[in-house]
Amino acid sequence: MYARFGKQAVVVQKYGGTSVGSVERIASVAERIAKQYRDGYTNLAIVVSAMSGETNRLVDLVKQVNPRANEKFYDLAVAAGEQVSIALLAAALERNGVQARCFLAFQLGIFTDPLHAKARIQSIDTRDIFNCWNVGILPVIAGFQGISEEGELTTLGRGGSDTSAVAIAAALKADFCEINTDVNGVYSADPRLIPDARLIRELDYEVALEMAALGSKVLHSRCVELGAKYKMPIVVRNSFNPNDSERTIIMNSINSTEILEAPLVSGITLDKNIAKLSITRLPKVSGLITEIFGAIAERNINVDIIVHNLLADEDSMRVGFTIAREDLPATEEVLRSLNRKPPFREMSIFAEDGFAKVSAVGVGMKSQSGVAGRIFAALSQKEVDIHMISTSEIKVSCVVRSEVMRKPLGARRWFGGNCAAGSSKKSLGGATVPSPPQTPLSLFAPSGLRVTTTDQGVTTANHSILSV
Ligand code: ADP
Ligand code: ASP
Ligand code: MG
Repeated sequence: MYARFGKQAVVVQKYGGTSVGSVERIASVAERIAKQYRDGYTNLAIVVSAMSGETNRLVDLVKQVNPRANEKFYDLAVAAGEQVSIALLAAALERNGVQARCFLAFQLGIFTDPLHAKARIQSIDTRDIFNCWNVGILPVIAGFQGISEEGELTTLGRGGSDTSAVAIAAALKADFCEINTDVNGVYSADPRLIPDARLIRELDYEVALEMAALGSKVLHSRCVELGAKYKMPIVVRNSFNPNDSERTIIMNSINSTEILEAPLVSGITLDKNIAKLSITRLPKVSGLITEIFGAIAERNINVDIIVHNLLADEDSMRVGFTIAREDLPATEEVLRSLNRKPPFREMSIFAEDGFAKVSAVGVGMKSQSGVAGRIFAALSQKEVDIHMISTSEIKVSCVVRSEVMRKPLGARRWFGGNCAAGSSKKSLGGATVPSPPQTPLSLFAPSGLRVTTTDQGVTTANHSILSV
């Protein structure tokens, strides 16, 4: 990849928790970066996660002190892991002769909305990155965190440093964003659960987004959303595998003739973090469903699969939906408080934890029928009950009890003998020079990137506003 863009390549490299999980690993990542730097690739911005296990430890501490802690306190505590890892990596780089400068989100200017624990990036001030490059300093930036307009520290949601990296890459108009992790790339299924899963070498944003959103933990789904929106190529690779060709490139959508030949199912994902709510005996009064989902949305809870069917021979309504497990207490609270109001008094609420969502994803499904049937047959042969189903043009998801995920689900058959392989033939091509744009850019660039530039004498400032 680097060779394609030359020494001027502007690249954001992100290192995940396992890649910086011990002092030895930090030393090895620093050596790798220093070598590239000495080879002339100096326009790099490094984004780092907390050391593996550290964010979990901090989340646990907050929960022990107060399970319902104010989200501002939660964010402040759980973002601390990244502060340590940027400092350690910078110190390791220093030892390798590379001068680095560390940035916490508030120091660089990664501005988010005020939605604590799931904040979205609104703008990134890239001036200091260019300033660093101008004087031969390597910027090392804390992932996962941001700063709200009120000056409060925010976090982007678990796994969010992928999103920090792609957002910074988009703001810099980088050539690509490299996500360095502990596997060689995106596989057709989690390689830790399915050892013969295949590495997908090229993937378009659409499938990558579905896979990420459906629980393939390797990428934070909002980073793929951003990649698609700003056409930022994302390269997923193993921090410790020097082989440049073993990786996944996620980039622009493939064209329709290629879709015809695309693999039927590119990947299978598993999300073990599902809770299910069922509401029965809801009076058949229009507007009640809207009120329920409106109240849930007000608490910033994401509802996933919704099942609702108005039956003529029943005098009340039922509705079922899924949410992330951690949102269960808040969702129950919303429903219980509605339950006290007159039109909702009759309704019964059943909240159940312990579900998983298993999904098949692939653009090839657009042009072939029968995938859903094949999946249902494979599951029923294994005596797995399907509690909910949701389909789209390129995915089929089934909600099942989590414990059944311990048995093999016959997932091989879902691929229909057409196993996942690279689906796009496009190459990345092109090179850019790492100077900030010299002329004012349009406020709303065609890609949706909202950019404002101001000229500040010697250094041109580039301040990009991203709405994620
Ligand atoms: P990092 O700490 O680098 O951000 P993560 O733990 O967040 O890494 O993500 C990497 C993990 O994602 C892998 O170790 C792997 O077990 C898991 N994973 C789940 N689904 C997939 C998939 N389809 N392809 C690759 N890895 C996957
Ligand atoms: N350290 C954060 C987490 O564990 C962010 C990340 O790893 O991407 O969720
Ligand atoms: Mg991650």
